[in-house]
Amino acid sequence: MVAVLSKEVLPFKKEFPITDNHMHLDPRNGEGVEAVKKFMREGGRNIFLVNKLTKDLGLSGVSVDNFAKLYRETIKLAEQVSELGVRAFPVLGVHPAEFHFMAEHRGIEKARQIAEEALELAAKHVSEGEAVAIGEVGRPHYPVAKEIREACEALLCYAFELARDVDCAVQLHTESIDEAGLLTIAELADRARLPRERVVKHFSPPLIKRSKELGIMPSLIATKKNILAAIEQGTRFLMESDYIDDASRPGAVVSPRSVPKVTKQLFAEGRLSGEDIWRIHKDNVERTYRVLVEF
Ligand SMILES: [Zn+2]
Repeated sequence: MVAVLSKEVLPFKKEFPITDNHMHLDPRNGEGVEAVKKFMREGGRNIFLVNKLTKDLGLSGVSVDNFAKLYRETIKLAEQVSELGVRAFPVLGVHPAEFHFMAEHRGIEKARQIAEEALELAAKHVSEGEAVAIGEVGRPHYPVAKEIREACEALLCYAFELARDVDCAVQLHTESIDEAGLLTIAELADRARLPRERVVKHFSPPLIKRSKELGIMPSLIATKKNILAAIEQGTRFLMESDYIDDASRPGAVVSPRSVPKVTKQLFAEGRLSGEDIWRIHKDNVERTYRVLVEF
């Protein structure tokens, strides 16, 4: 028993720069930094902290000012996380579900205006070094009316242009997507003249080979099944929990431990080598975001 523990836990914790590419924290409605402690105890070292929705802050009525508050809170939260010893990189943007909500309450035109300004503000935080990427932006994962989908896509293109201007990556949220969908995204990036390798497909299917050919960086939910399917095709991908930190939706929550846990399991089983882990959790991350991963 002791031998098993030391083999699985000890070398892993010391050596690897385990990175969760997409995590939300919600100190009001969820666990907040307590979730990060769980991640850390499991061997996690870095997270990309994506803002929640303005309503999660208890803000009613969507406005640019509410996004400003949401961003500031996310940046502050990242600082608190970093004090714990886990490096947190803020990712700021207008979630497509939030845009949908705004469009229904304020009308598409007004919603678009607010969302564009909110994205400009996100880009400003990036240019000032307070955030590392824009996201999550894109299209809702559930069916929406054609005009909402088109407005979301226009907003996505705008996010790509802003990311090009401030030289950062974009975390993309979409409906479930196939190879054709990935190609369309790559073409949208081309149109905005954003380098394709700056596009991170959050909640990506394990289409590692095709993503590599297209130049997009896939980020995969850390389930064993998903990662095993991915490594059949290579190691050019990121891993994420997509932890939503919402106590009222326990069924929707993947554990904040999932990225280190699954990595550790696959390492112990010999399915992922140390070299693979360095590539997934450090090299791919540093190349995509141009940040240095500390560990
Ligand atoms: Zn998310």
